[in-house]
Amino acid sequence: MVDFEAIRAQFPILDQKIHGHPLVYLDSAATSQKPQCVIDAESEFYRTINAGVHRGAHELAALSTEAFEQARAKVAALVGANSAEGEEEIVVTGGATAGLNLLATAIGNASLGRGGEAARRFAVKPGDEIVVSEAEHHSVLLPFQELAARTGATFKWLGLTEDGRVRTDDLDEVITERTKVVAITHVGNTTGAITNIAPIIRRAHEVGAVFILDACQSVPHLKVDFHALDVDFAAWSAHKMYGPTGVGFLYGKRELLEALPPANFGGSMVELAWMDKPAQYMEPPARFEAGTQPVAQVVAAGVAAEWLMNIGMENLEDHEKAIAAELLKLGDIDGIRILGPRENVDRIGTVAFDVKGVHPHDVGQFIDAQGIAIRVGHHCAQPVHRHFGLFASNRASSGIYNSVDDAKALIEAVSKVRAFFR
Ligand code: PLP
Repeated sequence: MVDFEAIRAQFPILDQKIHGHPLVYLDSAATSQKPQCVIDAESEFYRTINAGVHRGAHELAALSTEAFEQARAKVAALVGANSAEGEEEIVVTGGATAGLNLLATAIGNASLGRGGEAARRFAVKPGDEIVVSEAEHHSVLLPFQELAARTGATFKWLGLTEDGRVRTDDLDEVITERTKVVAITHVGNTTGAITNIAPIIRRAHEVGAVFILDACQSVPHLKVDFHALDVDFAAWSAHKMYGPTGVGFLYGKRELLEALPPANFGGSMVELAWMDKPAQYMEPPARFEAGTQPVAQVVAAGVAAEWLMNIGMENLEDHEKAIAAELLKLGDIDGIRILGPRENVDRIGTVAFDVKGVHPHDVGQFIDAQGIAIRVGHHCAQPVHRHFGLFASNRASSGIYNSVDDAKALIEAVSKVRAFFR
């Protein structure tokens, strides 16, 4: 049995009062709080071994490089990726958005003929198709919409069911022989719905398309194994998985990373550079990690990954399922509509809701006055909101430190909102 109360005690930020009430943090889908071990790892790095990685012949450089690469291996272990030297499948990025843009840019470069013969498998040309879903965060929607605009490809998407799940009943019509790229969210950041990705991945591969997973909202909550899922690429952010801000990871099947041309150029990604001929780039992951990396943050993200593995992602899933069950009772309150699946199946504890007749900012403030933090707005997912006939909503999202009592406190507060604003 995991003692989740003891885990909560590892988060110093939660031990405070907001407007006179004990803080109830239900905004982990935006960013998670950090356990003491992650906070300590970052400062410990600066206090003891801070130095540039992969360069320099001095002891600190060797130690920081070792810590950086060990962190990469821990992150790889969390998601079932390879990490042996020469086989690495994890690229350090600035976050999910940076990773998704990196991919879209690299595929765009391949479409311009960069990367030689090996990169031709990624090339997108006019008349080809790029497919996303209506559930996407703008960080998937926009980079791949832009890629379509740059390459002349047709931009298509999988629609949503009434309760906001990505539809898979018309896969053969949407993903066709002309489809080159399919980019889909693993878990909707508004609906909390886990996408049924298996048939989408199968269909993408059947037509020879590259499948990209937005794993931002799955890695912190579910046990994921990218090899078992057979995704080609996956991007996510450390700050949502109890790690630091400013850093994220991009998974790629090794053979695909080897074939993909770079997207960003500069120091530390080039083997040989000349004035009068093209440069020779390094093997992955270095080829995709131009410039000085956020080393302290990567090291701390590795600590977060290890910490999560020690707790056990299955244990975390069970813990959050109970909180989701409680949060879903929001839908029983008069005038409250849940934007997403009502049943506690194939979903996580991220529950967006509309309060009839009350603007989300008013709801957020009313709830905040009671020490409860939720997110209001469109959560960078405007098409999802349009699907529900709204522009904005309220969103409660659970994390490892929440309890069923936190969800109860929210329900109690939300049940008073409409009477207050009447
Ligand atoms: N994708 C999803 C599903 C998200 O929830 C988020 C963050 O809100 C992102 C992508 C972008 O993550 P970041 O802002 O950390 O780059």
